[in-house]
Amino acid sequence: MHADRTAVTVIGLGSMGSALAAVLLERGHETTVWNRSAHKARSLVDRGAHLAATPEEAIAASPLIIACVADHQALHAVLDPAADRLAGKALVNLTSGTPEQAHEAVAWARSHAADYLDGAIMTTPPGVGSPDMMFLYSGSPEVFEAHRPTLALLGDPLHLGTDPGLASLYDAALLGLMWSTMTGWLHGTALVGAEKTPATAFTPVAVRWLTAVAGFLTTYAPQVDAGHYPGDDATVDVQIAAIDHLLHAASARGIDNSLPELLKSAMERTRAAGHGADSFASVIEVLRNPAKDA
Ligand code: NAP
Repeated sequence: MHADRTAVTVIGLGSMGSALAAVLLERGHETTVWNRSAHKARSLVDRGAHLAATPEEAIAASPLIIACVADHQALHAVLDPAADRLAGKALVNLTSGTPEQAHEAVAWARSHAADYLDGAIMTTPPGVGSPDMMFLYSGSPEVFEAHRPTLALLGDPLHLGTDPGLASLYDAALLGLMWSTMTGWLHGTALVGAEKTPATAFTPVAVRWLTAVAGFLTTYAPQVDAGHYPGDDATVDVQIAAIDHLLHAASARGIDNSLPELLKSAMERTRAAGHGADSFASVIEVLRNPAKDA
């Protein structure tokens, strides 16, 4: 233990909470842990963690409490009976939830005189502790600044703003991006796999393509902000023709086409809304106003 390091309590020792506690321990923080199923603390205790017998004891042990349980219902199940102990503590909640739940949690924490910071973890447990991985935070800038050195041990801490719902909002948006991207990659992998190309051969090419795609996003972001989509690179009309090639190639090889059909439908609705000659960024118009073109 380093005398200059804040003592930390980690509540919740599932896959993620265990990874958080392990990194804090490794980096020299006095770490107290609590989990509903106490046996999950065993290997952390072997490495020097204190196991609290109750959530009350866990909260009392440290000025900084990091909570990472399944959902907000579990969070309340654990913390409600111990809420009186939270006065004067900093509660950093890394449990996934919605922006509305984050707002509710701030009000709840305030009613118990606790400082509250909401967070979202943008990695899986093996990535915890890497400065390349983002941890998103929103809400109290005071809690963020006071505990930034500790939070920085878990991953790169980004404070998105004082609205406590922002971390959950970004988390939802980024997971949507991840699932769309991974499903698109798997669809492409199935397509080339139908011609005996292994995923390991296709994926380096796909990853290189994602770098180009990242450049398209950067080009299109100011177009979205301006509501003006000059179709001087590739128009929606051109992309509708191109997606037909994908649909044809995949269908001819027996691959499920529900993802590209969904994408084509959004492009067609964009064209019907008058954006055929505009850039792909104009698809945001039908995403923002789904009823108008239904
Ligand atoms: P997990 O392995 O399933 O662990 C769930 C944790 O919640 C366990 O500590 C569990 O306790 C506790 N829990 C569930 N219901 C409870 C209840 N009613 N009362 C008390 N404790 C309860 O899940 P995880 O992967 O660690 O995920 C934890 C949070 O991190 C989730 O919000 C998740 O979305 C978020 N997250 C996870 C990842 C990831 O890659 N795993 C990435 C980003 C964010 P028991 O051990 O007693 O069951």
